[in-house]
Amino acid sequence: MFVDEATVQVHGGDGGNGCCSFRREKYVPKGGPDGGDGGAGGSVVLVADPEVSTLLPFRYKTIFKAERGRHGEGANRSGRSGADLEVHVPPGTLVWSEDRTRRLAWLAEPGARWVAARGGRGGRGNSRFATSTNQAPTRHEPGEPGEQGVLRLELRLLADVGLVGFPNAGKSTLISRISAARPKIADYPFTTLEPHLGVVDLGDRPGFVVADIPGLIEGAHGGAGLGDRFLRHIERCRLLLHLVDPAAPDRDPVRDAEIIDRELAAYSGTLAEKPRIVVVTKSDALQDRSALGRIDAWARSRGFECLVVSAVSGEGLPALLHAAADALERLPRASAESEDLAG
Ligand code: GDP
Ligand code: MG
Repeated sequence: MFVDEATVQVHGGDGGNGCCSFRREKYVPKGGPDGGDGGAGGSVVLVADPEVSTLLPFRYKTIFKAERGRHGEGANRSGRSGADLEVHVPPGTLVWSEDRTRRLAWLAEPGARWVAARGGRGGRGNSRFATSTNQAPTRHEPGEPGEQGVLRLELRLLADVGLVGFPNAGKSTLISRISAARPKIADYPFTTLEPHLGVVDLGDRPGFVVADIPGLIEGAHGGAGLGDRFLRHIERCRLLLHLVDPAAPDRDPVRDAEIIDRELAAYSGTLAEKPRIVVVTKSDALQDRSALGRIDAWARSRGFECLVVSAVSGEGLPALLHAAADALERLPRASAESEDLAG
């Protein structure tokens, strides 16, 4: 689980005041009260929007105010209500009270909505207070103020894509090259190795979140190194990119690919069956291209697409990102449902 945070202020719109007014017409000596009601203030509503993938926008804009209601007017004209203000947050956003003691909302699913600050009610105008004994009331109400508050937003990200491969296969370099944002990483049960997380922004189509799973080496499933603990986390990814260095000194790339393949399978059937794209890295540095054909043949034999990239020259990166986005579009979304968050 990767966590990103932001703090925002929300203000519901104030209600409009009720009006105090009496009808005045040329030939009507005693016009009755005709002050209209104030309009209600708009509310600030958080909406989980799948097009939003990080809390980064809230670094720049932190105050959200909904429109106020208009005041009532004479001739029994009510004030117009203020419009609600929708604030788009990524699905997977948890909302805490300012002092972080209470969970206020959990916007897990795309489209989920939560009223963060209710607009104030409009005040009643004096025409509402006329009775048989008081036909000329001057009483009228002010609008109610809108609710205000400070909210702590916490994004609980599940990575869509996990990078696996031998140490030095080029995972960290790739993620630094393709990702646009680097949310803060917290709550990770690894002390010495840091998993890296990146948000890939594709502009005109939904981006995705990539996690670098370091330390995957032979024997990881049995607890060698830290690999097994990382494996548990990639179980929740929807797609794996299996990185293969075609020219690691003293190693055979196909044999390395098979070792990773066996590690995944030995850890769990879920991992073995995860959709996977084989990514041959460091193409800029490759002298002998015969290795490419062998890796490609291996990938095909296993039913995986195989792409060639260089994080240094950029070769193949757009094709890789779009292939990953295509694959994710075909796969069901992981629901960000999580343990005890609803409570
Ligand atoms: P990781 O252990 O899988 O995270 O691998 P790194 O990203 O740390 O990369 C291992 C080494 O390969 C580093 O020295 C990188 O500079 C180098 N490297 C990574 N990607 C490329 C690439 O596309 N081209 C070249 N020439 N070197 C690369
Ligand atoms: Mg690394």
